[in-house]
Amino acid sequence: MEKNTRANKKSSKKRVAVFDLDGTVFRSSLLIELLEELIEEKIFPKKARKVYSRELQNWLNRKGSYEDYIEKVILAYHRFIKKKRAEDVWKAARKVVSDQKNFTYRFTRCLVSELKKNYYLLAISGSPQEMVREFGKKFGFDRTYSRIFETDKKGRFTGKILFEDMIKDKGKILKTVVKKKGLNLKDSIGVGDTEADIPFLKLVDYPIAFNPNLQLYRYSQRRKWPVIVERKNVVYRLNRGRLPQIVKTVLKNLKCPR
Ligand SMILES: [Mg+2]
Repeated sequence: MEKNTRANKKSSKKRVAVFDLDGTVFRSSLLIELLEELIEEKIFPKKARKVYSRELQNWLNRKGSYEDYIEKVILAYHRFIKKKRAEDVWKAARKVVSDQKNFTYRFTRCLVSELKKNYYLLAISGSPQEMVREFGKKFGFDRTYSRIFETDKKGRFTGKILFEDMIKDKGKILKTVVKKKGLNLKDSIGVGDTEADIPFLKLVDYPIAFNPNLQLYRYSQRRKWPVIVERKNVVYRLNRGRLPQIVKTVLKNLKCPR
């Protein structure tokens, strides 16, 4: 029998598991929740809501797409972040994560909690780093990648985004981390919910489409990737795509500590 020495533990962490966050672990968008909090705290003006209110209504009435809505939310954030103090945004982010940390899917929360023991846990999100870092910390991710808004010497946002090309390619981020940290893609697991996650899902040994949108759903069916859906208190496995034993066990139990 293999002894569970520190050396063994260390080497087993060479395996990597990659997660998208918005819609995959978090049952909302970290960006939307931060933006709403900033308006609530009067750091952003109320009129910021006007930028996306029509698209939000259209999405709620299923007349428009979620993508159109989120695109306008991003636009509003970009428009109003300039000259705001980074300290205020970090504070708002901490409050949102503290209030909403339990607003997660059961399947991915349990999977993260289980994989944490033996996998290097990576989260890649297009949401702002203030939210993603806080969220990642709460759930024990080893590293998070997110959208970084530049600040000036006085600690105020300039409105510029740093390394924007990088965050748009989630596959490139995974490749960089694997190389930098000396990780191994053998037995790696990836979980995502939209087509933006395809570039990293393609690289891992076990890709999982969780609550996928139409684009990712179609792609997964073609590639025979497993599709898992969580609705209310039921988790469905929609096809027989390959799953590692550890994921099958999580699906069976769906019990994990908060
Ligand atoms: Mg997502």
